[in-house]
Amino acid sequence: MSKILDTVPVTEWGFFTLPRPMIIAGPCSAETREQVMETAKGLRALGINVFRAGIWKPRTHPGSFEGVGTEGLKWLQEVKRETGMKVCTEVASERHVFECLKYGVDMVWIGARTTANPFLVQEIADAVKDTEIPVLVKNPVNPDLDLWIGALERFNQAGIRKLGVIHRGFSSFQKIQYRNDPGWRIAIELRTRYPGLPFFADPSHMGGDRKYLLELSQRALDLGLDGLMIESHCNPSCALSDASQQVTPEAMQDFLGKIVVRDNEVEDSDFNENLSQLRTRIDVIDDEILSMLASRMSVSRRIGEYKKAHNVAILQTGRWDSVLQEMIEEGKKKGLSPEFISSVYNAIHEASVQVQNEVLSSDGSPSAN
Ligand code: PEP
Ligand code: MN
Repeated sequence: MSKILDTVPVTEWGFFTLPRPMIIAGPCSAETREQVMETAKGLRALGINVFRAGIWKPRTHPGSFEGVGTEGLKWLQEVKRETGMKVCTEVASERHVFECLKYGVDMVWIGARTTANPFLVQEIADAVKDTEIPVLVKNPVNPDLDLWIGALERFNQAGIRKLGVIHRGFSSFQKIQYRNDPGWRIAIELRTRYPGLPFFADPSHMGGDRKYLLELSQRALDLGLDGLMIESHCNPSCALSDASQQVTPEAMQDFLGKIVVRDNEVEDSDFNENLSQLRTRIDVIDDEILSMLASRMSVSRRIGEYKKAHNVAILQTGRWDSVLQEMIEEGKKKGLSPEFISSVYNAIHEASVQVQNEVLSSDGSPSAN
């Protein structure tokens, strides 16, 4: 059972200006002093107050650009001095935290690979203990809500009350459109359990390509999330990491202008009552139902091929009757009426038989049904 989190509302952090979305923006990686300053000034001109830049980069393969290290913290200091922006970076060890505190970094985030490792999370939580530094925890790379909550609990127990989350999606072996599977259901579940927890989305890492920024950001805001972390680089095509997902500050302005911020004036306790947010949840569930139906159909097609190879008739009514009875019983336990379940499953079954018929007759063999 998860514990209560004692957190400070994000509007009281003194970091972000309202109205939503609250924006954190900046390059994937700090590369040079010039690139950092030019990007920061471009973003500041848009009214963005919080600047991100990776100083130590967790790369999949050795030999990739792994960040400039401590040198880059001096550039972040300069951003603060020159633009008045707050600055933040990713920390993955006690040493990173100490360096950040030494150079006056205003906020840190925990990367997805680190959140998945409770040893490291605890090490970092011990390092930030007794400081006022805000901490944003990205979801773990794997879709494990408890692991994400566990990390939040570790920081909260270390006295961090300016605590929030960043949803950046989950690694998936399956080839999907996005770089990371959005897995919105997990974000919705976390949001429902902790309605007051400051909640950001990272459409840059979720999509992996700037062309998805708008649709993913819109969905995040429609779900009522507080803000967005977006990667921005003054010259994205030359970026040393994540080139395809970064946008120039100019493109960011254009994109921010296209986001529709729907009325979210309800108090957090009213979250569940907000119609547009509930509708967005339904959209997420409907998307999942569709993908499940598609997977079911492809399994069904394979069964059809298998039956054909073994010369077995398509319809074994005995099996279907018992499957349906079981579904009806399970449905009742979930508060779904027998009529509803039998009409939904009969429709699914009918479509499935039809697919198998197509398989069977594909080389002209007579249909078994
Ligand atoms: C990043 O924000 O640059 C980053 C590495 O993100 P993630 O931990 O989400 O992969
Ligand atoms: Mn990145």
